[in-house]
Amino acid sequence: MKLAESTAALLPESIRDDFPILAQTVHGDKQLVFLDSAASSQRPRQVIDAIVRCYEHEYANVHRGIHVLSERATDGYELARRKAQEFLGAEHAHEVIFTAGTTASINTVARSWGDANVGAGDEILLTPMEHHSNLVPWFQLADRTGAVIKHLPMTDDGRLEVDRLGEFLTTKTKLFAFTAVSNTLGTVNPVAKLCRQARAAGVVTLVDAAQSAPHLPTDVRAWDCDFLALSGHKMCGPSGVGLLYGREALLDAMPPFLGGGSMINRVYDDHFTPADLPGKFEAGTPPIAPAIALGAAIDYLQSIGLDRIHAHEQALVAHAWERLSAIEGIRLLGPSPIEHGPDIRAGLVSFVLDRPHSHDIAQLLDNEGVAVRAGHHCTQPLHDRLGITASTRASFYLYNTLAEVDALAEALTTVRDRFKPTGRKRRPREA
Ligand code: PMP
Repeated sequence: MKLAESTAALLPESIRDDFPILAQTVHGDKQLVFLDSAASSQRPRQVIDAIVRCYEHEYANVHRGIHVLSERATDGYELARRKAQEFLGAEHAHEVIFTAGTTASINTVARSWGDANVGAGDEILLTPMEHHSNLVPWFQLADRTGAVIKHLPMTDDGRLEVDRLGEFLTTKTKLFAFTAVSNTLGTVNPVAKLCRQARAAGVVTLVDAAQSAPHLPTDVRAWDCDFLALSGHKMCGPSGVGLLYGREALLDAMPPFLGGGSMINRVYDDHFTPADLPGKFEAGTPPIAPAIALGAAIDYLQSIGLDRIHAHEQALVAHAWERLSAIEGIRLLGPSPIEHGPDIRAGLVSFVLDRPHSHDIAQLLDNEGVAVRAGHHCTQPLHDRLGITASTRASFYLYNTLAEVDALAEALTTVRDRFKPTGRKRRPREA
C-alpha cells in the first residue's frame, strides 16, 4: 500500500486528546513519541474515569455481599463480562473467565485442560513465532506428562507454512496453540483457516490474542477456536486483568486449577464440589475494578471500531515500512506489506541495524523522546530462527500519527549515521 492510498484510513488526531499521558515532554523539551504499545498500551480518560468511578462509588467485594456497594460492584463486574462476551463474539457470558492476563489464561488451560487431556506421547503443536507465555506452559505440561512438542514451520520472512499444517496434525496431536498476531514479526495469522483445519482433525485450538484483540476484530465463533487468551493492559484497559474464552463443553468438563473461595459450590470436611461456570475458574477475590475498567476499554475501542483501528495501523505500518527500509544497514523483520499486501501485518515493525546494538538504539531513541522496545520481546526461539539475538520494535496504536513514524525514521537515521563505518583505517599505535 502506498502512503497516498492509505492516509484516508487514518483516524483523526483528536483521539490523542483522550490519552492524557501522551501530552508530555520528556528529557527536557522532547515531545514524547510513544511507540511501545505492544508491550502495554496507554489508557484513555474514559478508562481512567471508570477506575476512579468504581473506587469512589461502587467498590466492594463482589458476589457475596448483601449490601448496596457489593451489589453495585457485582453488577459492574458482570456487566463487564457481558461486554467482553460481545467483544469476543462468544455464545455465552459464562464462557468468559476473568484472569490476570494472557499468561494466566494460557496457564489455566495448560493446567486444567492439559493435565486432564494430554498424556505421554501425545503431541502439542506450536509455532516458531510464539511468545514465551505460549511456549513455557506447554513445555511444563510436556515435562509433567511426557507429551511431545512440535512446531509448524514458517518462512524466512515470518509467515506460517499453513499448507503444511496437515503434516503436523497427526492422530497424536491434542492441541494446536498459536498466536493470532506475532508480537515481534507483526504477522497476522489466518486464524479461522488454522482452527478449521485443526477442528477437522479433532485437535483442540488455543489462540493467543494478546496482540490481535487490541488491534483487529475478534470473533471466537467465526474463528471456531476452542480457547482464546488476551490481556486488558494491551487494549486500553488496566494491567492485572485479562480474559480466557473457552468453549462451554470444554470448560464444563475441565477440573478447576486454582482452589479457594468463590470457585466452590460446597465445601465439606475433606472435599468440595466446584461452582458452575464461570466461578469455577475464578478462585479468590477477582480483579474487580480492573475488570470493570476493561469493560470501559471495550466500550471505548468499540466506539471507534476495531476495523478502523486496524486500517489506521496498517497505514502507519505502510509508512513506517517505506521510511525505515530506506535506512542503510537495516533489516526489517516479518513479511513485507508491499509484497504481501497490508492484511499480512498488524501495527508494529521490528528491525535490526548492522550497528549499533538494539539496546543502544532504544537508548539513543529515548534520548530523542521516542519510546521503543529492544531485546528478544519474549520470543527467544523466534530470534534464534531469524539468526539474531535481539531486535528493536516500534509498535503503534490508535493514538499514533504519521508524524510520529517520521520522528522515528529521522531519529533512527541520525543514530545510524552516528555509527556509520567511516572507512578510515585506524593508524597502528606507535610503540
Ligand atoms: N502473548 C503475546 C503475543 C504477547 O505479546 C504477550 C505480551 N507481550 C503475552 C502473550 C503475555 O501477555 P501478559 O504479559 O499480559 O500475560
